[in-house]
Amino acid sequence: MPHSPPPDADARRAVAPVICYPDDTLPRPDLALYARFRAAAWKTDEVIVPPREGRAFRVPVCGFFRITCVEGPQVGDLNLWNAENLSERFYSGKTRALHGTHLSTGDRLWSCFPWLRPMATITEDTLDWYGFDAFGGGVHDVIGTRCDPYTHYLLSGGEMYHHCCHSNLTRAIAAETGEDVRAAEFRVHDVMNVFMCTGFTRDTGQYFMKASPVRPGDFTEFFAEIPLLGALSACPGGDCSATHSSDEAACFPLLVEVFATPAEALGDWASPPVNGYDRSHGA
Ligand SMILES: [Zn+2]
Repeated sequence: MPHSPPPDADARRAVAPVICYPDDTLPRPDLALYARFRAAAWKTDEVIVPPREGRAFRVPVCGFFRITCVEGPQVGDLNLWNAENLSERFYSGKTRALHGTHLSTGDRLWSCFPWLRPMATITEDTLDWYGFDAFGGGVHDVIGTRCDPYTHYLLSGGEMYHHCCHSNLTRAIAAETGEDVRAAEFRVHDVMNVFMCTGFTRDTGQYFMKASPVRPGDFTEFFAEIPLLGALSACPGGDCSATHSSDEAACFPLLVEVFATPAEALGDWASPPVNGYDRSHGA
C-alpha cells in the first residue's frame, strides 16, 4: 500500500526544478571551424551495416563519420572507443547528464572516467527539426542502453535470440580486435541510439519507442575529436515502431562513410586533453 501524502504534498511537488549541470561553463565546440575542416575533408572509406548485423569502422582524429539511412527507416546503435586505448569508451550516462536525453548538432559524445573528454561532436543532423513531440519523444537518444539477449531471455521466458544490438556489436568488435566473442562482449557499452525516437511516458515514466521519423537520405555526421574505433548495429527493431529482439520487424542497412581532414587544414587545432582532475580522490 502506498503511503498517504503529507499535508504539504502539493507544495513539495510544486517546487521548480533546477538543471543539474548548467551548460554555461561547458566548453563549446567551434562549429564554424569544424565546417571549414569538413570542406577540406575527403572520403576515405565506407561501410554498409547489413540489417540485424553490426560492423566496425575507424575514423582518424579530426576526421568525420556520417551515418546515413539508405533504403528504409532504420535505427542504429552506436558504440565508440578511443582507437588507441579501448578502455576509453563512450559514456552515455554522463553525455545524457550534460546534454539531455536526446542529442543533435553541437552536442558531444563524452568518454568514461577517468578520461571524461569529448570523443566526437555532432556537426550535422538532418533530423534536427524534430525536437520533442507531443508524447515527449525525441530522436537520437542516450537513454535506451541497447537491445540485448539477456533482457530478452528474461522477459520472453527463456528464448534465445542472437541478433540484438548487443550481440551485433559484440560480433563486430570481436571481428575487429580478433578477440573471442566472450571477451569482446565486455567492450560493448551503452549506446547512442541513432535515428531512434524514444522518450518516457508522462504518467508512468516508462521507456517508450515509436516509429522513427528517419527517411532514406537522412544522416547524422560526427567530428572525431580523438582517433576513433566505432561499431554500429542495424537494430533488429528496424524503425522500432512495434517490436525488437526478433526477426519480425522490417530492417534495412545503414551506411557509414568516413572522411579525413588534411593536416594543413587544422591550423593550431588540438585534440582535447584528458580530464584534468588529479585522481587523488582525497586519499
Ligand atoms: Zn537494437
